[in-house]
Amino acid sequence: MARCAFCDADFEAGPGDLLLVCPYCGTAQTVKGAKFKDHYMIRVHFDQSEAQTTLLDWVSKQLGAPEDLAARARFVKSELVFYPFWVSRVDAHSRYKGFGRDARFYDEWPQRPGAYKRIDFFLKPESGEFTRRYEIVLPAVKDIDEDVANFPIPTRAKEYFSHAHAEEFDGKVLHSQVSEEQAREFARKRAFDLQTALIMDEVVQVDSRHDDIDVGETHLIHVPVWELTYRYGNSKYRASVSAATGYVIEAKYPRSVTFRAAAILSGLVLLGVGGGLLGLAFGVFGTTLFPAGGVVSGGMLSLLGLVLLYKGVSRKEAKEQL
Ligand SMILES: [Zn+2]
Repeated sequence: MARCAFCDADFEAGPGDLLLVCPYCGTAQTVKGAKFKDHYMIRVHFDQSEAQTTLLDWVSKQLGAPEDLAARARFVKSELVFYPFWVSRVDAHSRYKGFGRDARFYDEWPQRPGAYKRIDFFLKPESGEFTRRYEIVLPAVKDIDEDVANFPIPTRAKEYFSHAHAEEFDGKVLHSQVSEEQAREFARKRAFDLQTALIMDEVVQVDSRHDDIDVGETHLIHVPVWELTYRYGNSKYRASVSAATGYVIEAKYPRSVTFRAAAILSGLVLLGVGGGLLGLAFGVFGTTLFPAGGVVSGGMLSLLGLVLLYKGVSRKEAKEQL
């Protein structure tokens, strides 16, 4: 439990929560009660029923989805979650000295221009600099789906956090498990790594480098996502839809019986052909035909057959991403 330093209300907070948002007055604050001002949000543009419609439209168009999916799906849970993300602007300037790889060519073949009898590789001193501005994004809760953690946030559409707006949609605003200091430190390291990648594209060995890495504006942005669960037949399927853009971040959906039957059939055919080729390659039928090619293509066809069989037989739901 925690007590709000601004409205005195008690509210739920776990030991890992480092920057809290009071569910009663909406004030972002450190665990010591210091107000955090750089608190933003992305507003909701798709309400619950719009998000549901968008999702059903999308899943209905997926390969193998049952034709009556949109008509028969029933939503059993619809929750709006505001996920916290830290977004830092980082200005980085790096100067480096090192060695790049180069080559000298000798004795061109008379008949083959561009082909040489001898090539000497050597290291050549190189230096340079990179100036870059980065926007580093860090998801601020550990218990977050990977797809939700990585989907592109429209950071330019951010507005100051509005408690009233979150309440209007009955949104659940999650505390941040990352402090501002940790977010800044992460942004610095990430920018350094990105600069390193630029440098290592130019040289194979770095002798010296100097980095000026300035972590600037660092905001906490709450991003609204509809977490939806729907029932189709006897199973339930989960999906996440961006409440700002209607983007289907991830969605699970059933495969139709016809799709699964077709997958099983083509799986069996491929397995048969692939197995036949393997048999020929290994001389099971008395003679050895196309030894190497037969093993490769037979093996690949059999593998593809097994994958299709698995997709057809398994009752597991399908998951697709945009
Ligand atoms: Zn409060």
